[in-house]
Amino acid sequence: MEAEQVIYVDNNATTRVAPEVFEAMRPYFCERYGNPSAVHSFGGEVGRAIEAARWHVADLLGAYPDELVFTSCGTESNNTAIRGILAAYPEKKHVAISRVEHSSVLNLAKALEREGFRVTYLDVNSDGLVNLDQLREAISPDTALVSLMWANNETGVIQPNAEAAAICRERGVVFHTDAVQAVGKLPIDLSETPVDLLSLSGHKIHAPKGVGTLYIRRGKRIRPLLLGGDQERGRRSGTENTASIVGLGEACRLAGEWLQGDGGEQVRRLRDRLEHSLQESLPGVRLNGHPERRVPNTSNLSFEGVEGEAVLVLLDVHGICASTGSACASRSVEPSHVLMAMGLPQDVARGAVRFSLSRYNTDEDIDEILSVLPEAVGKLRAQASRSRQ
Ligand code: PLP
Repeated sequence: MEAEQVIYVDNNATTRVAPEVFEAMRPYFCERYGNPSAVHSFGGEVGRAIEAARWHVADLLGAYPDELVFTSCGTESNNTAIRGILAAYPEKKHVAISRVEHSSVLNLAKALEREGFRVTYLDVNSDGLVNLDQLREAISPDTALVSLMWANNETGVIQPNAEAAAICRERGVVFHTDAVQAVGKLPIDLSETPVDLLSLSGHKIHAPKGVGTLYIRRGKRIRPLLLGGDQERGRRSGTENTASIVGLGEACRLAGEWLQGDGGEQVRRLRDRLEHSLQESLPGVRLNGHPERRVPNTSNLSFEGVEGEAVLVLLDVHGICASTGSACASRSVEPSHVLMAMGLPQDVARGAVRFSLSRYNTDEDIDEILSVLPEAVGKLRAQASRSRQ
C-alpha cells in the first residue's frame, strides 16, 4: 500500500521522519561525510554539527549539552543507564522497576535477577499508576537504582515521576526514567525535576530509527557499556551516527516549537473525538488507563467480546494502521503485561487496540476510522455470537 493511502495511527510504535529532519540529514551522507573526531576541518565541521544537535536536544529537555550521550536507540539508552549505574555502584545489589515497563527494561531486569541482583517489581493500580508508598517501602540501603517509565507506550499513562524522583533523591538512590514515550509529547524540564538519568529515542519523535540519547545528570557516574575510541566523552564509544544525530537534533527543535505552539492540543482534540465518537456509536467500549494522566496522543480501547488482533486485521484492509500494544510484543499471543498488571480480565486485555496519533493526523483520518471501525466491531461481535450458538 502506498504511504499516501495509509491512515497511520501507530505513532507509539514509530513515526514518519519529518521532512525538515530528512532535509537536515541529507548533506551528511555524500557531502559532509568526514569523521567528527578527525583533525582536519572537513571532519571538524561534522563534529560541530553534532554539537549543534546536542544543544537542540538539551533545549528540549532543560539539560546541559554535556549531560547528553548519543546512543543507537531507546533500548541501548535503557540498558546503558541501568547496567552503567549498577557497575558504578558494585556494592549495591537491588533495583526497583514497575511491572509495566517496556521490554527493554523488563527483560534486562529478568537478566539481572539471573545474575544475582534483587529486583522489586512495583505494582500499578487499575489506572496504570505506580504506588509511591510501595516505592518508599522498597528502597533499602542496598538499592542502587529505581527505573520508572515516564509515559507508558501502551496506555500513554504518565507516572508520578517528579515525586518518585524526589523520593529517590532524598534516600540517596539513583533515579532513571525511560522517557521514550514522553519526550516531544509533554513539556520536560530536567532543571526542575530531580531525575538523574533519562532515555529517549529518535524514531518516536519524527527522527530516524537507530538513534537515541541518554541524559546523565552532571555529577552522576556510570560505567560505559561500549569501550573503544572514547567518543561521547568516553561514555559511548563508536563513531557517531552523524546524519541521524543531526536529524534527532532537528526533530527535537521541531518538537520544542510544537510544544510551545499548540502544546499538543490538536492531537488531543483528535484523540478525544475518536474516543467519544466510538463510545457513543458502540456499546462495550472501555478506555484503558487513567483518563486524564495520559500523553495527549494515545488511546487504548477494549472492545468487549472481540479480539484486538481481529479488529486490527479488519482495519488493515482499509489501510488503517493501529496496534494492540507494544510493537515488540505484538507477535506474542499473551495478553499485554501492562493491561494484566492493571488487573484487567484476560478477555478485556485481549480486546484492546491502541491508537497513537501524531501532529500529522487530521480530522479526515478520524472520519475514516469512524466510518470503518464501528461496523468492523459489529461484524466481529455478530460472528462471535453465531459461533457460540
Ligand atoms: N521504551 C519505550 C517506552 C518504548 O516504547 C520503546 C519502543 O517502543 C523503547 C523503550 C525502545 O526504543 P527503541 O525502539 O529506540 O529501542
